[in-house]
Formats: sequence, C-alpha cells, structure tokens
Amino acid sequence: MSEDVSVDVVIVGAGACGMVAALAAVGNGATVLLLEKLENVGGNSTLSTGSIPAAGSRFQVAAGIDDNPALMVADLLEASGPHEAEDLLANMAELSAELVHWLVDTHGVDLQLITDYKHVGHSVARLHAPGDRDGKFLTADLLAACEKSGVTIRTSHPVVGLITEGDAVVGVRVEPTNGQPYRVMAGSVILAANGYGNNKELLKRWMPEIADAQYFGAAGSTGEAVTWAEDLGAAMINVSAYQGYAAIANPELGLLLSWTTIEMGAVIVSPEGRRVGDESRGYSGFASILLEHGETAFAVFDTKIRDYVLENEPRFVRLFNDGLIIEVSGVDQLAAFIGCDSQTLGETIATTARAASGDIADEFGRTNFGFGPLQAPFCVAKVTPGLFHTQGGVRVDAHARVIRPDGTPIAGLFAGGGVAAGVSGLAGAEGYASGNGLLTAAGLGYVAGLASARDAAEKVRN
Ligand SMILES: Cc1cc2nc3c(=O)[nH]c(=O)nc-3n(C[C@H](O)[C@H](O)[C@H](O)COP(=O)(O)OP(=O)(O)OC[C@H]3O[C@@H](n4cnc5c(N)ncnc54)[C@H](O)[C@@H]3O)c2cc1C
Repeated sequence: MSEDVSVDVVIVGAGACGMVAALAAVGNGATVLLLEKLENVGGNSTLSTGSIPAAGSRFQVAAGIDDNPALMVADLLEASGPHEAEDLLANMAELSAELVHWLVDTHGVDLQLITDYKHVGHSVARLHAPGDRDGKFLTADLLAACEKSGVTIRTSHPVVGLITEGDAVVGVRVEPTNGQPYRVMAGSVILAANGYGNNKELLKRWMPEIADAQYFGAAGSTGEAVTWAEDLGAAMINVSAYQGYAAIANPELGLLLSWTTIEMGAVIVSPEGRRVGDESRGYSGFASILLEHGETAFAVFDTKIRDYVLENEPRFVRLFNDGLIIEVSGVDQLAAFIGCDSQTLGETIATTARAASGDIADEFGRTNFGFGPLQAPFCVAKVTPGLFHTQGGVRVDAHARVIRPDGTPIAGLFAGGGVAAGVSGLAGAEGYASGNGLLTAAGLGYVAGLASARDAAEKVRN
C-alpha cells in the first residue's frame, strides 16, 4: 500500500463537475486532490457541445435578450413536467449567470452566448458555449485553469470506494492503474464521477427502455459512485430520466448528425419513407419516439441546411468528409438511397412542405420548420437513436450535500453532475432540455466546491 494522503477536499472524477468543484474549493483556500480513473480528464463533458444555460448573463444583456431565473425555471419545467428536483432547478437557475461570469472572468473559460438559434426547451437564447461549440475546448480551458490554480490532479487513479466513520464519509480508497492502493482522508468527498450510462445492469434496473440502445457517452460513466451513495442511504430521485439523442450517424466513429439540421427544417423518416412524430420535440425526446418505431431512420434535409451547419459547426465537418451525408438530386434518388417506395416518400416530402409553408397544420403538430420547405437537391443521413447520459441520481441540497430520504445530509458527502439527480423530469428522454447536463455538472460542482471549502475553514476555526 502506498502512503495515505490527507486533504480538505477529495474529488472523484475530473469532468466538468469535478474540475469546477476543484477550482471553487482551491480558490477558497481548501487543499484539493482531484482523482480521475481514466488516463485523461474530461469524461462526457469533453464529448458534449459544452453548452451551459445561464439566465440573465451579461452576454444576454449585451445581446438585448431579456431573461431571468424565473423564466428559465418555467421553460425547463415546461419541458420536463413536474419532478422530484424542482428545488434544485430553482437553485441552479438562480446561480447560473454568476457561474458563467465566474468561469469566464476568473478562470478564462471561453463561453459565448449562442444567438443564432434557440435550443430545445428554451424560450430565449440562453446557452453559453465555447466558440467552436465543442466540449473539448470547455474541458481544456477548465484543465488549464486547474493547473494555473494549483489543483493536484491524478489521472489513472480510480477511486474504488468510500471510507466512513460512523455515519460520516471521511475519505476514499484509490487503486491506481499502475501503482499501489492508498487512501485519501478528507473533510469532504465530492462525487463528480457522472452517472451510469455505461452500466447495463443499472440501466436495466432504472431505465430498461434504453438499456439495449447504443450508449454514446464517455467510458467512465459506470455508476459506481451512485451506488456507493445509495448504499449509504442517499435518496434516489428522478431515477429513470436520461438524455437521449435521436440522430447518431455513425456510432463506431462517434459521429452525430447535428440537431441544428432538424432545427433548420430537416425531417426524420422511417425506412418506409414516413415521418413518425414531431421532430421539434428535440434530440432527446425524439429518441424515445424513434425507439418505439425501430432503430434505423433517415434525416432528410437540403443543401441550404447542410451548408449552414458546415459553416457554423466545425465539429460536424468530418461527418460530411466521411461521406455520411449523401446529396441526391430529387425524391426518386432519395427513395432509392433509403430503400423505400418513391411515391410514399414523395407524399411525405410534399405534405411536410405544405405544413412548413403554413398551408396546412402539420400532422404531428410541428410548427417550426427553420428555413421552411425543403428544396431539391436533398441531403440524407442514416441515423439511429442512442443514450448520451443518465439524469437520475442522488438527491442533493442547495450546497450539493447528499441527502437521505428523511432530508438529513450524509456528513462529508457531496455530489454533482451525473451522480446527482438532474432536472429533466421523472423518467424517459422527453424532459431533457439542452444544457441540463452541464447545468448541474458545473452548477453543483461550483456549490460543492464552495461549501466544502467553507467546511474546511470552519474546522480550522474550531
Ligand atoms: C455527445 C454529447 C453531447 C452533450 N452535449 C451537452 C451539452 O451541450 N450541454 C449539456 O449540458 N450537456 C451535454 N451533454 C451531457 C453532458 O456531457 C453531461 O451531463 C456532463 O458532461 C456530465 O458532467 P460530469 O462532470 O458529471 O461527468 P463527466 O464529464 O463524465 O466526468 C466524470 C468523470 O469521472 C470519472 N470517473 C468515473 N468514475 C470514477 C471513479 N471511480 N474514480 C475516478 N474517476 C471516475 C470519469 O472517467 C469522468 O472523467 C452531452 C453528452 C454527450 C454524450
């Protein structure tokens, strides 16, 4: 066994939640050790588009957008329906602008307000993302800030369990990939290890509908931290909610079709050439709909939409370069690619065009068709639905302390990001609004870092 370590705050997992928690804790005087089980930091946060919602930010004010936490709460509740973490939602909305300002101003994280379209679930432009809308820049900026702030990070150091004394959590056990096991004793343990998207057993237990679908998140989300907290008596809430994605273009290569194609007017059709629902319900909600209709589908758009996405979202260029987007001259060629009846597909395209022009009501109730009716030449991509991350988890309070069903906190234990319950409804993929994942990753990381540093200072005073 290697020598044990003693710090004020030990953090399990170095994604957005863990790195934000580390910055907040170290910036408030705590000694911090950040442990990551994989070789590299970043987790799901690196795979994301790095979009964090914030209501009333100065970037919104500069762009003339009128927003406030109450409106954000109303928007997200409309998307999610009632759920068990509404108090958390109110706290996160209230904090969101301060959080984004702190990330940008204190830690040099590049976050810019996305104004060219409103994301799923938001009535105003509210998401703040890296310039290239790629989470790898968000986590690179957070890592640089951690290094600058003197946070000690150990990668390839998986935490394998919690250490308790009586009812309190007092540390973690670590088994490095190449090295001797050791213990970290700490005043506070922050679980920032994400959820259980990569754990089939837990998926089968809590969200069987998506358990067999393609998992598209980071490998590290194997759920052990959720299980440790549950075993200690944490309340589990919103357990069956998750973020799905309806348009994975190539699971092996890790390539997604940007949902902006849909927002700008693309439709998704079945292998028979028929639409199956209102695509504007969002990439997550529509994943549930596709799962009900068989896994394979086809996104159909036009060259105007393709060129728009290419210009605005560099991360999707590879999709085009790898030949996963096919351009076809008309409906017959489109039907030949999909392998469906040309007349059926032609009727689908024509009926949808009339709805997009406002001549008739859309059969599925869709009202937003972006640029309007699709026009040949068309583009098409084969897509399948998949799972991005789980949104259910442990109940936490406004300071990210882990809470039992009776409302009492488990001493010494904090959780954020995918370990904690999110704000996307009780179950399924439909309640997920864009940014819900990073909202509670960065937001709870921030409050957990602050509270654990306060606890450490308090101990010194006593
Ligand atoms: C393709 C994609 C796009 C997305 N886009 C967005 C978006 O734009 N906006 C948004 O809000 N959300 C988005 N999400 C969801 C978002 O990525 C997650 O909600 C968020 O990243 C979770 O952050 P986290 O810090 O909790 O987890 P992660 O970023 O996954 O970090 C957890 C870390 O903990 C490590 N870990 C796990 N177990 C242990 C252990 N035992 N010991 C040590 N380390 C451990 C993991 O390896 C990982 O590095 C997206 C997800 C995907 C897959």
